[in-house]
Formats: sequence, C-alpha cells, structure tokens
Amino acid sequence: MTGSAEKCAPPVIFLDAVHKTYRAGEVDVHAVRGVSMTIHKGEFVAIMGASGSGKSTLMNMLGCLDRPTKGRYLLDGTPVSELNRKQLSLLRNHKLGFVFQSFNLLARTTALENVELPMFYNHQFLTIRQQRDSALKALEKVGLTDRASHHPSQLSGGQQQRVALARALVNEPEVILADEPTGNLDSRTSIEIMGMFQALNEAGITIVMVTHELDIASFCKRIIIMRDGEIVSDEPNHKRHLATDDLASLNQREHRAKLA
Ligand code: ADP
Ligand code: MG
Repeated sequence: MTGSAEKCAPPVIFLDAVHKTYRAGEVDVHAVRGVSMTIHKGEFVAIMGASGSGKSTLMNMLGCLDRPTKGRYLLDGTPVSELNRKQLSLLRNHKLGFVFQSFNLLARTTALENVELPMFYNHQFLTIRQQRDSALKALEKVGLTDRASHHPSQLSGGQQQRVALARALVNEPEVILADEPTGNLDSRTSIEIMGMFQALNEAGITIVMVTHELDIASFCKRIIIMRDGEIVSDEPNHKRHLATDDLASLNQREHRAKLA
C-alpha cells in the first residue's frame, strides 16, 4: 500500500461479494447475490429496485441486524463477522442510526422518552439528566422541541418520522440507515423529511436510504439500483434536487393556486 492510501480513512461501509440466502421451508431464497459496494463518509446513497429485489435484506446486513451467508462486511474498517454479540451491539449503537417506513415509535411513551431509548443500550452510563439533555438536543435538531411531551398518537406522520430521526441521531451515529423513510408520508412531508436528511448529510453524516420512488432518490448524491439480489447500476446523481428549492416552488405553486 502506498503512503497516501494508508493515510486515507477506511470507507464507512465496505461490502465484498456479500450473499444472503434464506431457507424458506424446502426452498432456498437467494435474496442477495454477490453484492460489493464501497461507501465513504459524507455520501448520501439511494438504493432502489422493485419489491423483492433484496433491498431490505441488504439494509439488514448493513445494520448488523442480520449476518451475510457469505462474503465480507467491514463497518468503518471493523470486520463485523469477527465480533461477538456484545461487541456487535456496541458497534451498532455507536456507528448506526435507523429510520423505518413505519416510524417504529413506542405508542405509550412520549416523544422525549422514545428518543432517549437508544441511550439505554449504549453502555456509556449517562445520568438521567444527561440522557434527557441529549434527547432534547436531538429533538431540537429536527425542530420538535415543543412536542417533547406528546405521545406518537398526538403527532402527525411527518412529526412522528422526525421523532424517529431524532432517536436515530441521539447517539451521534456515523451513518443513518433508512428503509423507505417516506413510504407512509404525503409528498410535501416527504420533501420536508428529505430536507432534514440533506441538512444532516451536509453536517457530515453518511446516509444510505432505500426507496422505490425516483422523486425521493433524486435528493441523493448517488443511486444504486438492485434487481434480483444484484446491483445492476451504481451512478452519481448529477441532477440532484435540493429539498429547500422544491419546497419553495411547491409553496409558490400553492400560493398562485389560492390567488387564482
Ligand atoms: P425488498 O426490500 O427489495 O422488497 P427483500 O429484501 O425484503 O426485498 O426480499 C428479497 C427476497 O428475499 C424476496 O424474495 C423475499 O421474499 C425474500 N425474503 C426476505 N426476507 C425473508 C425471510 N426472512 N425468509 C425468507 N425469505 C425472505
Ligand atoms: Mg423492503
């Protein structure tokens, strides 16, 4: 290795010929078939593909929620397969934040308590006060300070997803993994959420997001397309949209419609 290459930070995500086969009764389902990819710090990647193409399976492996059947996965330079359960949960808690289509908030707890949750698992032994301050800071980042004591049922879909985003941010992760984060949201709210992702990405967080909507992928910097468990395309997005621009023109259009 050359001197300059040694100085480079390792990629945040490095997959080498990763496979995942599920045993479903008598048949094997080959959900991911030899995927290799390298994602560096500061990237914002969309993973697209038809239903059943292996996107969620791939995300589960990236999130260390599931292990590859074959192949190698390095998360920020650490070979994930060599870790025991405790090490893996620590790594996952430090490096990764998760956002899901269905928000996955606990219904009977407040927004603040939902955001505090990941800190109970991060083995840092923060005081109750420190946990609350961190959670409030995360809620502030998503503009929800005034909803801290609300329960999920008292919040709109977009607000619930922002709580989920605050929960993903509270341990200050390197990477956010989002599986169809706008799948349950209307188009304006979707753009607002993408605006938040773009702002976080500008602040240095790496984002990998699954979506099957081109409109949503258009906010990302790089688009990977999967088909039948394989990557069939992996290109930079030269026509990237900025959510702030799209929201401004949406507002303008609505304003004109009201005047008409
Ligand atoms: P996508 O997220 O792109 O819709 P998935 O990763 O969910 O695709 O699924 C890829 C393939 O793996 C599909 O054929 C699906 O039926 C299969 N699959 C996913 N999870 C399991 C599982 N736990 N057991 C068996 N088969 C599964
Ligand atoms: Mg899926």
